[in-house]
Amino acid sequence: MTQGKESGVQGVAIFGATGSIGVSTLDVIARHPERFRVVVLAAHRNVDVLKAQCLQFKPQYAALVDPVAARQLKQELTAAGLMTEVLSGAAALDELAAHPEVDTVMAAIVGAAGLSSTLVAARSGKRILLANKESLVMSGSLFMDAVHAGGAQLIPIDSEHNAIFQCLPMQSKSIDYPQPGIKRLLLTASGGPFLRMPASGLTVVTPEQACAHPRWVMGRKISVDSATLMNKGLELIEACLLFGMSASKIDIVVHPQSIVHSMVEYIDGSVLAQLGNPDMRTPIAYGLSWPERLFAGVESLDLVRAGALEFEEPDEQRFPCLRLARQVAVSGASYPAVLNAANEVAVAAFLNHQLSFTGIAALVESVLGAHCSTNVSTLEHVLDVDQWARRAAQSNLDTHRFRVSGAES
Ligand code: NAD
Ligand code: MG
Repeated sequence: MTQGKESGVQGVAIFGATGSIGVSTLDVIARHPERFRVVVLAAHRNVDVLKAQCLQFKPQYAALVDPVAARQLKQELTAAGLMTEVLSGAAALDELAAHPEVDTVMAAIVGAAGLSSTLVAARSGKRILLANKESLVMSGSLFMDAVHAGGAQLIPIDSEHNAIFQCLPMQSKSIDYPQPGIKRLLLTASGGPFLRMPASGLTVVTPEQACAHPRWVMGRKISVDSATLMNKGLELIEACLLFGMSASKIDIVVHPQSIVHSMVEYIDGSVLAQLGNPDMRTPIAYGLSWPERLFAGVESLDLVRAGALEFEEPDEQRFPCLRLARQVAVSGASYPAVLNAANEVAVAAFLNHQLSFTGIAALVESVLGAHCSTNVSTLEHVLDVDQWARRAAQSNLDTHRFRVSGAES
């Protein structure tokens, strides 16, 4: 038995500790030191933030994937007299995800880089708080099979999926259970910073504009995904997998106020919604404490001050990423992995000023169009497809067609 289980204290590993979700998770944990013990803090290469987190939470292990950054962290923690063991490299994350002292894994690495450690956590039967939607989208039923085989508990942290999880009947809270009585799911979308921008304006928006989300403060990749609505597309695929629903039973509704985080419609006409201020500490606290509730430091929702709550249809003409993701959700097989990988390359190129905002959807569509679907039955297979799509996206990006004029090649 682990120390955490003996004492009733949950041992928590946070992968992606230095990011927006990681920081919010630590904020919730800091409010309940009697319930949680931080066992692992892991990130890519941000020494300063991880060091400050280690000094505050004194984890048993800290990991930075970048070996140079890990060496620096080790020196600085030793100089500060901390006993934390510092590991480096991607393999260290897998090792820590299976560690017996870890009860709960917050999967908050951004992108495909989070897949391996999240899969290990699934196979090791941990409680997985899943923020890293990309890992689920790319590996699909392989991931869900690993959750079942490992006896893991999967709790969605994405605010929409967490809202749906909260609106499901208690007996079907084991995820991927065939949902009785449910007619459809309604995923809400803020619409992002360009909701009202005409198509002509979208061609010249900058990364800074795209990352200035009107409602949520998030990492740069998900902020761009929110602006293109690819985020909602990935979330559509995520919802199909998590809740065992077909894409035709999931509607997307633009709700600019981001107060209603998503809804479940039942066959008797009832629609259950989860509301709250847009603050990720709510779904994080719910994941950490489920089936109980925890104080999360979130301000009370003032409905009078919030005013009118609006709902409208998404515009797939101006935001074609949503159309592409819906097609991929229906096609399945290797397409979701291709969509995700091509999108990661496209978003990185946009953030690097090498691709226009509208070029993101065009690049992803070009890669999807060149792909011959295959069934993905092993992790190696998923990674092969991911690599193929990244190479195809990079090679298309290198052609003049997708380059922003004036950008260096
Ligand atoms: P972020 O960019 O703020 O943080 C990303 C974290 O991942 C950092 O700690 C970084 O060090 C780590 N990381 C990046 N590359 C890595 C690599 N190769 N190996 C190991 N670690 C690596 O991102 P975020 O906004 O916190 O989002 C994290 C995940 O949560 C994403 O998948 C995102 O879609 C999802 N999510 C975020 C929000 C939000 O409000 N921020 C909401 C819903 C879902
Ligand atoms: Mg979301």
